[in-house]
Amino acid sequence: MEFESILLPGIDAKRPLVIAGPCSAETEEQVMTTARELAAAGVKIFRAGVWKPRTKPGGFEGVGSPALKWLMQAEKETGMYMATEVATEKHVYEALKYGIDILWIGARTAANPFAVQEIADTLKGVDIPVLIKNPVNPDLELWIGALERLYNAGIRRLGVIHRGFSTTDKTVYRNIPQWHIPIELKRRFPTLPILCDPSHIGGDRNLIFKISQQAMDLNYAGLIVESHCSPDEAWSDKAQQVTPAALKEILHNLVIRDTVQTTEDLSVLRDQIDDLDNELLQLLAKRMRVSREIGQYKLEHNMPILQTQRYDQILSDRASQGERMEMSGDFIRKVLEAIHSESVRQQMVVMEREKKNGSPTAEK
Ligand code: PEP
Ligand code: MN
Repeated sequence: MEFESILLPGIDAKRPLVIAGPCSAETEEQVMTTARELAAAGVKIFRAGVWKPRTKPGGFEGVGSPALKWLMQAEKETGMYMATEVATEKHVYEALKYGIDILWIGARTAANPFAVQEIADTLKGVDIPVLIKNPVNPDLELWIGALERLYNAGIRRLGVIHRGFSTTDKTVYRNIPQWHIPIELKRRFPTLPILCDPSHIGGDRNLIFKISQQAMDLNYAGLIVESHCSPDEAWSDKAQQVTPAALKEILHNLVIRDTVQTTEDLSVLRDQIDDLDNELLQLLAKRMRVSREIGQYKLEHNMPILQTQRYDQILSDRASQGERMEMSGDFIRKVLEAIHSESVRQQMVVMEREKKNGSPTAEK
């Protein structure tokens, strides 16, 4: 898939592209006040949820279509582009009818292929930018599947929003970032614009700056931040919204590192990394060779492949050794688990081969 790099005319390519606005459009006054203040803070794209997916019925489920009128009024007065979330065919028709400029698909909707397909079918032949939030569960293929559904409907102005993944673990985040997932997405689709949603990742306005800076350091194209004229009175997601003035301050303090890294120094360091990776691979191959020999020994002495006690000991010894060497124990454990599982696989191959041949063969 190849994507258009310019989502909207007149929005300059300088990072970060900023979308900001309240979690929900609540009243005409709240929309207009927030929009005026954000426009004054230099924001060019306004967001507001008109239909709100709620875990349980009875919460504030959004104002619905009447709020679209307020958004268009805000567009007329401030010149900002308007963005809203769509989850059904009806939402798409309504948003297009009123002239919304940019659509996004929420995290719960992105997790549902039927809903995404319905939106894609409705958008066939329409040229509008669409941003797809990551599904609530950390499933990269599902996220890519949603992108493909819109791409196949002819949408080329596509982008994604990283809003974190739900978890039952107690963490400082509302939705854990799992940065490696969007990083892998970017590796596979280098032209795909990625925006970060620090409001939904953090769930707390005090985390917005830090998460935004991390996203900028990872070269994200932009940010979508919840901003409300009076956050503490918001009807949804109040803890994670900031005033337009606070947002302006956050954006002002971000450090944007934009140098394309082709300096001499860096290429020397990169050569070192290439050499070290090469050494790592050779070492791993050597370790596998020894593992196969152990497999052969176990075979000849009728021992089971998995020796749990020894494996446990390896994991904890190496994890603490790794920590002494300034690496996280958790990281070392993950690496060793992967190596161990490949060793077990190789030893099983040795055993299988023996079963077929009927006699042990020496591994060299
Ligand atoms: C939102 O942007 O207000 C929203 C509902 O987000 P998400 O789909 O990421 O939960
Ligand atoms: Mn929200």
